[in-house]
Amino acid sequence: MIPTRTTREWQAADSAHFLHPFTDYQSLARKGSRVITRADNIYLWDSEGHKILDAMSGLWCVNVGYGQRALIDAATQQLAELPFYNSFFQTTTPPAVALAELLAEVTPPQFSHVFFAGSGSEGNDTVVRMVRRYWQVLGQPERQVIISRHNAYHGSTMAGASLGGMAAMHEQGGLPIPNITHIDQPYWVQHGQGMSRDDFGRLAASWLERKILEVGPEKVAAFIGEPVQGAGGVIIPPETYWPEIQKICDRYGILLVSDEVICGFGRTGHWFGCERFGFRPDLMTFAKGVTSGYIPLGGVMVGDRVARVLIEQGGEFEHGYTYSGHPVACAVALANIRLIQQLKLVEHVHDDVGPYLAQAFAQLAEHPLVGTAETCGLMGALLLVKDQAKLTPFDPAVGIGMVCRGHCFANGLIMRAVGDRMIIAPPLVITRAQVDEMVALIRRCLDLTLADAQ
Ligand code: PLP
Repeated sequence: MIPTRTTREWQAADSAHFLHPFTDYQSLARKGSRVITRADNIYLWDSEGHKILDAMSGLWCVNVGYGQRALIDAATQQLAELPFYNSFFQTTTPPAVALAELLAEVTPPQFSHVFFAGSGSEGNDTVVRMVRRYWQVLGQPERQVIISRHNAYHGSTMAGASLGGMAAMHEQGGLPIPNITHIDQPYWVQHGQGMSRDDFGRLAASWLERKILEVGPEKVAAFIGEPVQGAGGVIIPPETYWPEIQKICDRYGILLVSDEVICGFGRTGHWFGCERFGFRPDLMTFAKGVTSGYIPLGGVMVGDRVARVLIEQGGEFEHGYTYSGHPVACAVALANIRLIQQLKLVEHVHDDVGPYLAQAFAQLAEHPLVGTAETCGLMGALLLVKDQAKLTPFDPAVGIGMVCRGHCFANGLIMRAVGDRMIIAPPLVITRAQVDEMVALIRRCLDLTLADAQ
């Protein structure tokens, strides 16, 4: 049983024993954690009884919203029936098989196979292992190099953080591991001002070809990217970017990997981000939205090009996790995907709340603090600037994003700050009325931030 305690008691025990992810421990001890105790639909409640609109879906994952009975029942029934069995040594379980089948159905046609992991980071570790094994089996073991992008986020394990392009993570971990290299991100504000977005998209894609030629095409195994960079600040690429990336990968025969951990399962108004941006990956990492975060699960969809080689010529693949195909996680994922289908959430984002949010963001773009306001399905970012016309940034010492985030916290809204970009990714079940409520809260927090900045 979880004990009943006051907020202060929880906070004291929390800072005494719990090392949180991505946290400055001194700062946490000073301020104390916010204790989240309950959730329903798109709302959270803290231990002081405050209601909070969760515009980040937990951590980009609660796609179907909180409190969905179908997922709770699926977990409860599976826990009673078979809480665990592994999928090593020629055994399997019905939920894992049924989920593999359903994933083959909802993913693009090149995918008929899945490798299960416990998280997005593990999924990306599997990508590194699988890509290298693929080329080894094909007699090209020198194809080791994986190209990724600066400011990408692919997880926090050694391979995930190496694939990611977060400088602060690399500095603390002696990363990246060998044979992982990065190109610049397709972020127009940083690299493309003065050009049309379409021209910039082609230019940013050409950096991949330049890197392939620099490394030597015979050494390049794969390129990995998030369709929209999430944790990097919801960096939405120009429409020309991904089709050009696809052409370059095809030209050199290198594998294309889409990290769909955030973009998958409806977030962009399509089942997967690669479908939104018109490319055809060979491998696809997923996690988060596959279970709407109710229970951990991740994995890799393996395209026929790779699966055929591994299955027909690969022998034993020396890789796997205790929780690959965990029956309870798979049962929850099955219920979650069926609920996404039943509630037509992908259509809801594509036809209704996605365009509605885009309109609301276009109006927020007129706020004096906002330099750019962009959305893609139910992901959005507002770039806070000092001078709207010139997109002049604030002095980093002001920490304008953190100031705004503080106002959001105090006003019952969870929005995330990535540098000066304020980002959202609300649950896909959000209604138009709730979008209005969220946007009104955002506007109030922008006004309060502007008052502080003057
Ligand atoms: N890939 C992307 C695109 C992500 O956004 C994340 C997490 O935010 C990961 C991988 C890592 O997933 P996890 O935290 O489940 O390991």
